[in-house]
Amino acid sequence: PERGTELLTVAGVTKRFGGLIAVNDVSFDLKAGEILGLIGPNGAGKSTLFNLLTGISPATAGTISFAGERIERMASRKIARLGVARSFQHVLLRSDMSALENVAVGAHLRSTRGYLSALLRLDRREEERLLAEAMRQLDRVGLAHLAHEPAGSLALGQQRILEIARALAADPALLLLDEPAAGLRYREKQELAALLSKLGEEGVAVLVVEHDMNFVMNLVDRLVVISFGQKISEGAPTHVQNDVAVQEAYLGV
Ligand code: ADP
Ligand code: MG
Repeated sequence: PERGTELLTVAGVTKRFGGLIAVNDVSFDLKAGEILGLIGPNGAGKSTLFNLLTGISPATAGTISFAGERIERMASRKIARLGVARSFQHVLLRSDMSALENVAVGAHLRSTRGYLSALLRLDRREEERLLAEAMRQLDRVGLAHLAHEPAGSLALGQQRILEIARALAADPALLLLDEPAAGLRYREKQELAALLSKLGEEGVAVLVVEHDMNFVMNLVDRLVVISFGQKISEGAPTHVQNDVAVQEAYLGV
């Protein structure tokens, strides 16, 4: 989708676990190329919301539209193929495989065959296509020089970026990141922020959950704040920072 066009629309989404309402009537939207931060205290419902967006669990009520399709009850593989990619809070790389091979696994996610069968019985031309695509993504994120190193030998910041390259290999229009800056050094956070800004300029929409306020305030175009499952504030970082409702939620008043 072209930069600035509506990509994701979350409308009145609720998720219950028995008697607990983890996400309560939340609405927001996201445009192609926009970087949106999702913040809120522990237990606010951020990860649950990510799970709804990626089809890990179905919404109890409300609708989620992505690129014109309703996805609130769609299977996660199908959502991934539509162009939603996610990286997890903890690095999930195969540390013994090379950086390139890790990204090639991601390049496969959008093809029609199953992921494991594909790994086991790729024909040679398909394998070469995937490796070429993986190299293109490594180049895009600035890790081409480490292509043949085992993923486990990379610094944590490089592993985080490698994980993003793997997600990008499926050619997503929307990238969901759960605490991408956690545990990184200052310099690594700067490199990560520069990469995410670049992706935004390329038209990729980024939705990022992050506890590091410095990182998130400098990075995002807009923020959505949730507390106890409900959206309590939304807007530019400076607006949200000065919002009394946000200050109270974080102080637990
Ligand atoms: P956050 O990511 O913002 O810290 P979560 O989305 O993980 O918050 O959790 C929101 C609420 O939903 C919490 O009260 C949590 O205990 C509850 N919760 C999350 N997942 C489940 C689940 N699978 N079953 C029951 N309760 C859950
Ligand atoms: Mg969480």
